[in-house]
Amino acid sequence: MSVKQWKQVITLTVIAIILILLILVIILGIKLAQYKDPVIDEAFASENLQSSYQDLYPDLYVDGAFEFKDVQGKVCYLTFDDGPNVQNTTKILDTLKKNNAKATFFVIYREGADAEALYKRIVNEGHTIAVHTASHNYNQIYSSVAAYLADFEKISSHIEKITGVKPEIFRFPGGSINTYNVAVYHEIIAEMLRRGYTYYDWNVSSGDASASWVSVKNITNNVVSGCSRQNQPIVLMHDGAGHGNTADAVPEIIKQLKTQGFSFEGLDKTIKPFCFGY
Ligand SMILES: [Zn+2]
Repeated sequence: MSVKQWKQVITLTVIAIILILLILVIILGIKLAQYKDPVIDEAFASENLQSSYQDLYPDLYVDGAFEFKDVQGKVCYLTFDDGPNVQNTTKILDTLKKNNAKATFFVIYREGADAEALYKRIVNEGHTIAVHTASHNYNQIYSSVAAYLADFEKISSHIEKITGVKPEIFRFPGGSINTYNVAVYHEIIAEMLRRGYTYYDWNVSSGDASASWVSVKNITNNVVSGCSRQNQPIVLMHDGAGHGNTADAVPEIIKQLKTQGFSFEGLDKTIKPFCFGY
């Protein structure tokens, strides 16, 4: 080929490349113009970014603006879950009264004169009344945030109606992290904190629910040895049906812990909670 022909071939090739690039740019432009984010579209956003459970129960809020107290010395926080129970709660309240000791009761929903009298007695004798759950049905309460709130509202308003006290602290059934709530606990905790509530797990377990029957001696030893390792233990115990041995252990527990130098106080929201990590 002559030089002139070569020049023509190169020119045509360059023009062809420019045309192809131009077409690619136009195609890309059209595709970009047509692209719609598959996730953030309006319908999705309005359905999912607005958490409708946040609008439920507008009275289910407490003042969350407070500071934790700097607790000095040895203070034991005895806590009792799953009451009130006529036999066990009564016996425990009698023991606490005799020892001028205060404690915390994470209660469940009970109707009737006996239960009402016990809710009131807890408050009148200076203990802390706190929310545990209305139903104690794990599958139900941990099925969604809304289901948890419904259960919480039921027991909270029940307590307030009977005692005049609106509970500000609570304990999750099974603790804040358990096999029933793995899928939803982050969201429930976030929502309860947003509403101003404080929750307490425990750093000493009495072991009174570890088997269908645990001896008074074992319950006592578990609590006393567990408390000897900390200055402000939060002790898990149960005063519901079937926990007569716990009620029977409380006098000896208080006696031994007193000799270790402990006083006994009820929890309130200014006491820094012990929470399982999340
Ligand atoms: Zn419980």
